[in-house]
Amino acid sequence: LDLKNQDLKKLADLGQGNGGSVEKVEHVPTRTIMAKKIVLIDAKSSVRKQILRELQIMHDCHSEYIISCFGSFLAEPNICICMEYMDKGSFDGIYRKIGAIDINVVCLVAHSVLEGLTYLYDVHRIIHRDIKPSNILLNSEGEIKLCDFGVSGELINSIANTFVGTSVYMSPERIQGAEYTIKSDIWSLGISLIELATGRFPFCDTVSDDDDSDLSDLERDKDLDPNNKTPTHRDSTFGFNKKKKMRRLSKRMDKEATLHDDNLASMSIIELMHQIVRDPSPRLGDQFDEEAEEFVDACLMKDPDERHSPKTLLEYRWMDDARDSTFDVKAWTATF
Ligand code: ADP
Ligand code: MG
Repeated sequence: LDLKNQDLKKLADLGQGNGGSVEKVEHVPTRTIMAKKIVLIDAKSSVRKQILRELQIMHDCHSEYIISCFGSFLAEPNICICMEYMDKGSFDGIYRKIGAIDINVVCLVAHSVLEGLTYLYDVHRIIHRDIKPSNILLNSEGEIKLCDFGVSGELINSIANTFVGTSVYMSPERIQGAEYTIKSDIWSLGISLIELATGRFPFCDTVSDDDDSDLSDLERDKDLDPNNKTPTHRDSTFGFNKKKKMRRLSKRMDKEATLHDDNLASMSIIELMHQIVRDPSPRLGDQFDEEAEEFVDACLMKDPDERHSPKTLLEYRWMDDARDSTFDVKAWTATF
């Protein structure tokens, strides 16, 4: 399919995110409805071409758990990525609309994300890097799919004025500057599952009064890294270009926090990062089945070496519930 910008008619805005916006469009020649993601790229044309080459991988992703891609093209100074449109949107929007998500659905979300992560890793050697409710989509067929995976290293490096892969879903080891691994995605999954099942972002109950999320806090508090070494990995939050990144992070977090919860908005981002590293992991709560609690606890092991891989987590009892589930997701999607 040869996609051209002039063939795409905008139908609606679907949302704005980190470094881009998404529109519902119609590809007029084929009358296909698509979601068009527009990313402003801060890069030379040689880099842009490299990014487009890397995005080709998306075309080769064929899994019922991954959003399919129609194609991508340059529309200077943006890159446009046209993907499958999911008419029920993302799970963050859904729980904000209807409240806590039925645990039977959350169970299926967990299963779909694990299958999606396993597919990306086994077949394409890709780590997602940005698991969160807004990247888990639903359609009225009851299908649950992942989008926005870290397909392009160049894209991640050059998204203008933003800071990809950093969010309130970030794992303790990532906050401390470790390399991204598939285990970091599992942490983000665990946080997302609690958020969906309870209808609120965890880490809100111990809100600190201290709202000065300025950089001096970070500079003073070297205890984020237990070895007291400043991480040097270029992609790490507190490594390369720290001040600039922290300023962007605060801006970004403020936006995300406001969306999440007014409590969180008053909590400093530094305090939140400290809390993730220092405090015991959040838990699902015992109003839920033991199988569900056990699974979420396993996702939120603080030590990434103790945290399981997607494959092992697929063997958990709760994932048997998902495979045996008779819950009618399609009917459920018709209720909102
Ligand atoms: P974020 O994921 O940080 O919210 P994005 O720019 O990736 O930011 O997406 C913005 C919003 O667009 C998402 O929250 C989601 O609700 C919506 N969206 C993204 N992709 C699709 C899609 N393929 N179909 C329907 N809605 C989508
Ligand atoms: Mg997204």
